[in-house]
Amino acid sequence: MLAYMSIPDLFLQERKVVSVLPAAYVGKAYSYALPEGSALPEPGTFVRIPLHSRTVFGVVWEQEDLPPATGALKEILEIYDLPPLSGSQRKFIDRLADYTLSPLGAVLKMTLSAPAAFDSEKGISAYRALAQTDIPEKYRQVMAFLQGGEARTTVQITAATGCSAGMLKTMLRNNFLEKITVTSPPPCEFPDPARGYCELSPAQDTVAQALSTSVRQASYSCTLLDGVTGSGKTEVYFEAVAEALRQEKQVLILLPEIALSNAFLDRFQQRFGCAPALWHSALTPAQRRHTWRGVCTGRTKVVVGARSALHLPFPSLGVLIVDEEHDPAYKQEEQVIYHARDMAVLRAHLEKIPIILVSATPSLETMQNVWEGRYQHLELPARFGGAQLPQIDIVDMRDHKPPDSRHFLSDILRTALQEALTRKEQGLLFLNRRGYAPLTLCRSCGHRFECPRCSAWLTEHRHKSILCCHHCDYSKPYPEVCPVCGDSGSLAPCGPGVERIAEEVKEYFPDSRIEVLASDMSENHDVLKAALTRIRNHEVDVIIGTQIIAKGHHFPKLTCVGVVDADLGLEGGDLRATEKTYHLLHQVAGRAGRESLEAHDPGRVFLQTWMPDHPVMQALAAGARDGFLQAEAAMREAAHMPPYSRLSALIVSGTHEAQTLEIARQISAVAPQTAQIRVLGPAPAPLSKIRNKFRYRLLVIADKSLHIQKTLRHWLGEVKVPAAVQVSVDIDPQSFL
Ligand code: ADP
Ligand code: ZN
Ligand code: ZN
Repeated sequence: MLAYMSIPDLFLQERKVVSVLPAAYVGKAYSYALPEGSALPEPGTFVRIPLHSRTVFGVVWEQEDLPPATGALKEILEIYDLPPLSGSQRKFIDRLADYTLSPLGAVLKMTLSAPAAFDSEKGISAYRALAQTDIPEKYRQVMAFLQGGEARTTVQITAATGCSAGMLKTMLRNNFLEKITVTSPPPCEFPDPARGYCELSPAQDTVAQALSTSVRQASYSCTLLDGVTGSGKTEVYFEAVAEALRQEKQVLILLPEIALSNAFLDRFQQRFGCAPALWHSALTPAQRRHTWRGVCTGRTKVVVGARSALHLPFPSLGVLIVDEEHDPAYKQEEQVIYHARDMAVLRAHLEKIPIILVSATPSLETMQNVWEGRYQHLELPARFGGAQLPQIDIVDMRDHKPPDSRHFLSDILRTALQEALTRKEQGLLFLNRRGYAPLTLCRSCGHRFECPRCSAWLTEHRHKSILCCHHCDYSKPYPEVCPVCGDSGSLAPCGPGVERIAEEVKEYFPDSRIEVLASDMSENHDVLKAALTRIRNHEVDVIIGTQIIAKGHHFPKLTCVGVVDADLGLEGGDLRATEKTYHLLHQVAGRAGRESLEAHDPGRVFLQTWMPDHPVMQALAAGARDGFLQAEAAMREAAHMPPYSRLSALIVSGTHEAQTLEIARQISAVAPQTAQIRVLGPAPAPLSKIRNKFRYRLLVIADKSLHIQKTLRHWLGEVKVPAAVQVSVDIDPQSFL
């Protein structure tokens, strides 16, 4: 009978089947046929495959019990000659998908974040010297420059020798040079751990030794590096970086706001002799390609990046560092919803390497882990070189009201600013609100301008003369007349944004040079960098900014900091409102007097508040961080809130309000009946409409002993959700909008 088996069947039986996880919104790996003549690729190999009507990148995934090949099986299109994704990273992807209830392929997509990395290397052309006995005088300089035998580009040679590109062509024709194609070296290939070591203080040295030891041990450990701003935390964790480099390992440093990290990069360069590789959303495709390949091949040693850098394909990480570990920017709120600090701990665990969490104001979650002995705690209690922390004063706005509702600075802050300017020092006014005014209303009819797509007021941006929404991209020209009653001149701004504060400063100090820095500038790195340079060069007297200026900058002349509205973050129903406000204001305060001119001038900070007795204000003024954290912890424990329970948010959204609410109710109706969880809602989200989508929220409070992912998966599986409605799950939510 065998003789009758058709040829195609025989052929099919011999085709090897490979399981491939596509980097796409799919939940599992699929079977693909191996092209004829290809060797079976090992798990982790990068490939390109057809998926529906597209082609996508993917990774060969663990193969267990693959079904036999059928004729319909599609073939792998390309197998890439790159080191495969490590087993620990594949496990990381698995676990992250599982923890966040995200599709596996969507998680992989965060790793395959540089599609250009799979293009074949183009290379650049360069000249190399050929051996010649008789060298004419005019060629000597070029030949001397290329003496070592290395190839150099036209640009390099002309810059170094002053010869023309034309002359190089002549030398090529006359066989003095040859032209070859070279590939440019990946970024941060040879950082030198011994280069710019600076003498550490005894306290710093003790901490640095402990960190280096954990790097040498090459096993999982998690350490909180806890020290006031300016205590030398960066200097100290550079020693852990140096140790990893000595072990020929790779290093990843996560920063919350990479766009602003110029000063950091300069320091790194001084310490290690070369710039680190950068990873953030504003890189060009070519830069992404270059760095991604450098990381994947192990040649790039140190990456400094935003949260997305956590997913780069490092084959040999030696240590992971999360600077400003408390920063909310580590939470990704779109697509795969995850917390990069927590997932960094997971990755370190799976890679069996140490991780260092760094902060002057650790999150309560992290402190809880310290208190329970899961994390090591290393402290740097004092500012380096005996510099003093700034004095923080509470300004009770009930007693120091500005003259009218169009002014926002108290007499105390005005005087302090005046004094700083007289001393030729800088002042900083902090207000976490972009634009001119957060609300515009008509004084004749009371009309308030709202976004047509979101449940949010429109913010006036006066220099652009627009009203715009901070939750979607809606904007319109500032109206001349009220669209409801038709009155002209009746529109009034309510409340301040940074632009309005700038106007007030201009009024009080007409000769001062003012710089407004807001987070909408962070999209344009060059504009921002230029502004920061002007500040450092003291071409600016008063800096007015949103949270963008709270982080990491060293402004040596800054001695007076005013927080315009210290109560701002305390509004709204955010569980962490108090904690977040503390972190932010503490960080802003830390900008003052960092490298103050005289050691006895530590800088001053003024908190304008209507709630001077609030625990946040009291703790900030008293410098009582630990007491504050303990009080906050006690409150959370009493309320059965994280870190003493686990929260998950279910956000149900859709374009039809009734249908959306109905699904939210159905989900609530089939909630598991167990004492281990409590479900709040559904309630309209505080932002009940964004981009024309209605949003309802359910908040799930679960005991930590419960496997919440398993529970949620089972629970949500019971409701049939129509395509017009989306249910997204946010495990450990940070934002409650
Ligand atoms: P942190 O990260 O805790 O805010 P940094 O590492 O940025 O602290 O240090 C604050 C300032 O003190 C920096 O300008 C740094 O260069 C300087 N500094 C810290 N430690 C030392 C040291 N051992 N020797 C010289 N300068 C130091
Ligand atoms: Zn009106
Ligand atoms: Zn909007």
